[in-house]
Amino acid sequence: MVKIIAPQNKIALTTGELDYDYLIIATGTETNYFGIENVRQKAIPMKTINDALEMRNYILMQLERAASLAAAEDRQKVLTIVVAGGGPTGVEISGMLAEMQSSVFRKDYPELEKGRSQSQIYLVDGAAQLLSPMSKKAQDNTYNALKKLGVNIILNAQVTDYADDKVLLSNGQTIETENLIWAAGVTSQVFEGIPRNDMAGKRGLKRMITTKQRALKIYMP
Ligand SMILES: Cc1cc2nc3c(=O)[nH]c(=O)nc-3n(C[C@H](O)[C@H](O)[C@H](O)COP(=O)(O)OP(=O)(O)OC[C@H]3O[C@@H](n4cnc5c(N)ncnc54)[C@H](O)[C@@H]3O)c2cc1C
Repeated sequence: MVKIIAPQNKIALTTGELDYDYLIIATGTETNYFGIENVRQKAIPMKTINDALEMRNYILMQLERAASLAAAEDRQKVLTIVVAGGGPTGVEISGMLAEMQSSVFRKDYPELEKGRSQSQIYLVDGAAQLLSPMSKKAQDNTYNALKKLGVNIILNAQVTDYADDKVLLSNGQTIETENLIWAAGVTSQVFEGIPRNDMAGKRGLKRMITTKQRALKIYMP
């Protein structure tokens, strides 16, 4: 589907047009970069299966690269990983990377073992806690488990930019890294034909306004 022609109860597809009586939009979401163009261009997204495969390959390539660098100090930004977004996706990824750090990395890249302190994983979130919509118990357990795994958790700070291999945070902190994984949220797709006043949102977050029945009012016949 590429366009909604509401007055005629039609949608345009890449292959033609279709008439509808009821239109149900279930096209999922897309990664929200909150309008930060450098992040959109350079961060590693984590939304689709393809993103996950690309992320895995990229991280393995970075490990290969780090292993071939002679000077320990050159490895720092190759091995440091910043995960933006402390929701379920960011929590899972940072935990998985921390587990890999102490198992796969150690076993497969013994040459990196000496500089282990350079291989830091950061999890950054703008809220005061991880997993904001979940229970306090889940938040505390998650925080403690990630800390135990060695993840550096930075709360109350948003990523504001990513330039020259530096992640800039709203608290003034800067983290040098070639690896920014973006798990900071999703937003709805906008289709041509949806009136602007049926969309809402700020900071790049787009939402479709629905009726109490969770239907888009403009498509009710
Ligand atoms: C990394 C990650 C981990 C997650 N883990 C969990 C989990 O453990 N448990 C859980 O419950 N949820 C999890 N979720 C959330 C879950 O994936 C989503 O809530 C769920 O997929 C939403 O379902 P959906 O049908 O609304 O959208 P989607 O699953 O995104 O499906 C939308 C479909 O619409 C298609 N489409 C898009 N645009 C168009 C178009 N213009 N025309 C036609 N078709 C189109 C897409 O190709 C896709 O097939 C996770 C999400 C992520 C990103």
